[in-house]
Amino acid sequence: MIDFDAHLAPYAAQSSKSRGRRHPEPAPGARSEFQRDRDRIIHSTAFRRLEYKTQVFLNHEGDLFRTRLTHSIEVAQIARTLARSLRLNEDLVEATALAHDLGHTPFGHVGQDVLNDCMKNYGGFEHNLQSLRVVDHLEEHYGAFDGLNLTFETREGILKHCSLANARQLGELGQRFIDRTQPSLEAQLTNLADEIAYNNHDIDDGLRSGLLTMKQMEEVELFARLHHEVVRQYPGLPGRRELYETIRLMITAMTADLAATSAQLLADAAPQSIEDVRAGPPLIRFSQKMREETTALKRFLHANLYRHFQVNRMRVKASRIVGRYRVDLARPRDLMGIKLEPRFHELFRTIWSDLRQEVLKSHERSA
Ligand code: MG
Repeated sequence: MIDFDAHLAPYAAQSSKSRGRRHPEPAPGARSEFQRDRDRIIHSTAFRRLEYKTQVFLNHEGDLFRTRLTHSIEVAQIARTLARSLRLNEDLVEATALAHDLGHTPFGHVGQDVLNDCMKNYGGFEHNLQSLRVVDHLEEHYGAFDGLNLTFETREGILKHCSLANARQLGELGQRFIDRTQPSLEAQLTNLADEIAYNNHDIDDGLRSGLLTMKQMEEVELFARLHHEVVRQYPGLPGRRELYETIRLMITAMTADLAATSAQLLADAAPQSIEDVRAGPPLIRFSQKMREETTALKRFLHANLYRHFQVNRMRVKASRIVGRYRVDLARPRDLMGIKLEPRFHELFRTIWSDLRQEVLKSHERSA
């Protein structure tokens, strides 16, 4: 037997001590439990579909923009680097990172608002909960069970947020939202790796699309400071490379800050097990200064990119499209447990195709 946990810190999630799967299975043998989770996620249908889902931009706008697939790979990369430096479970953060966006809709934020609106009478739409539905129920790959039958720890990491009402329906997995306790360090870490990834790649994509300008970016203190450093070190560097260097420095600054701050917090709190971690305060954190700087960056991206008038215009059109198809659908008994009835599928297909038409039209006009 290989000991997959030998190099881990005592507070890491250990494969050999996993809380297990909903449907018990024999040990995976040559792989750790979390490696098996990661492999199931990579082979899932929902994982391939990430390729055509975007955060802000549409897939057809060009192959240079991030999709949810490349975003998830970037999150996994940052999370693994951090996990290794803190002696946390790399396999678990990788599995969680690759699965964390499976439940997102197409058409970015607009798509999510549309679906939330459609599902208003049925408890709304939470992409986090949807990611969990995908891995727990919707994937159809295995003979013995629906879903991917992932470990508790991976599912815990996927469910970043959850309303209290939904948490009450989720049993053991929902309990921490009711008790207001922490998830594993690996889940905390993946959550922040996600932030580091999108805060940085959205700058790149925003500038590439022309929705953001370099002049605007100078309003963001962290960006301005590191950009000036690049200009000083490499005078006359072509624009794109200057930008990449700046973003590279930003990712390095954020990961280094997170690793150092968390290492100190862990040394001070000295948790002896994952149970200690779950009972304590959050221990994967940015320093106060970096937290302020990333919050300022996030606020900037919200105001200038996610709420850009071109994106907002789509939001208005999208809600008009949903209104057109508002029909009374019988309430499904339990949205977590059942697959959507065929008429829901039909409705969503129609709405998505109309939405796509609208997006393409407005894109042609602005091109
Ligand atoms: Mg994400």
